Amino acid sequence: MNILIVLAHPERQSLNGALVDIAARELGSLGHEVRLSDLYRMEWKATVDRADFPHQTTGEPFNVAASSAQAYKSGELTEDVKEEQEKLLWADAVIFQFPLWWFSAPAILKGWIERVFSAGFAYGTGKSYGDGSMKGKRAMLSVTIGGTEHDYAARGICGPIEDLLFPLTHGTLFYTGFATLPSFLVYNADRLEDYGEGFPAVVDRFRERLATLETTPPIAFRSAASGDYDPKTRELRPGLEEAHAHGFNLHIKKLS
Ligand code: FAD
Repeated sequence: MNILIVLAHPERQSLNGALVDIAARELGSLGHEVRLSDLYRMEWKATVDRADFPHQTTGEPFNVAASSAQAYKSGELTEDVKEEQEKLLWADAVIFQFPLWWFSAPAILKGWIERVFSAGFAYGTGKSYGDGSMKGKRAMLSVTIGGTEHDYAARGICGPIEDLLFPLTHGTLFYTGFATLPSFLVYNADRLEDYGEGFPAVVDRFRERLATLETTPPIAFRSAASGDYDPKTRELRPGLEEAHAHGFNLHIKKLS
């Protein structure tokens, strides 16, 4: 497979950096082609603004979606965005490696998504939730987390980790057509040796997930085309959910 790794961490000699090195080595040894977008090293511009559309006339109110769609159609997106879009089209699978910061991804990764997943390319295509330009590709989040597994369990004080990551796994990746794999999670990341599972155990678990990247069943999100949603309102038809499912879990066919 062609595999793109997107790294969002300011320090290459970090746990996140080490996981990327392991991924590149392991995937390479399995015969995969690997490319890396190291966002901090690339000094990735994280905000979408007028400067992203230099060819467009000024004076009119700036509308991101309209400008983005027009620039995509005319091939006038900036070179940095075009390069990342080319990498996405090349990839059969994408791994996003980042630390959980304020219950989310670092801003630089959010900014990469906002600029690279542009109108016409990733949204506004008439296809969504299980269909779209990323259909046929796999994606996995690999996230290091300061808190404990209990903190992020179903009744944990932080809320379920799957819910916190839902805007990425479902709202971004599945929305654009990716088959989203269950996330690879490292808890106690700041105290890995004292309280966590220890680095060697993390490496073993990670290698296993990398080796099964092609075969791991994706999260069973309900697709827009599944017939599970009312076509007018896009609300889930009554009675389809598993017992006790609520909130984001309603959109998963089979809870693990
Ligand atoms: P590092 O600091 O690089 O490493 C952590 C530990 O991993 C090291 O001490 C070491 O034991 C081990 N390690 C690192 N590299 C290697 C190596 N090469 N070989 C062997 N062992 C190694 N946490 C939450 O739970 N929820 C939040 O909302 C949250 N928000 C945050 C917001 C901010 C702004 C910040 C800075 C942190 C936040 N955190 C939060 C904590 C954060 O998730 C962790 O600090 C992060 O995941 C640790 O990953 P790292 O790559 O930065 O670790």
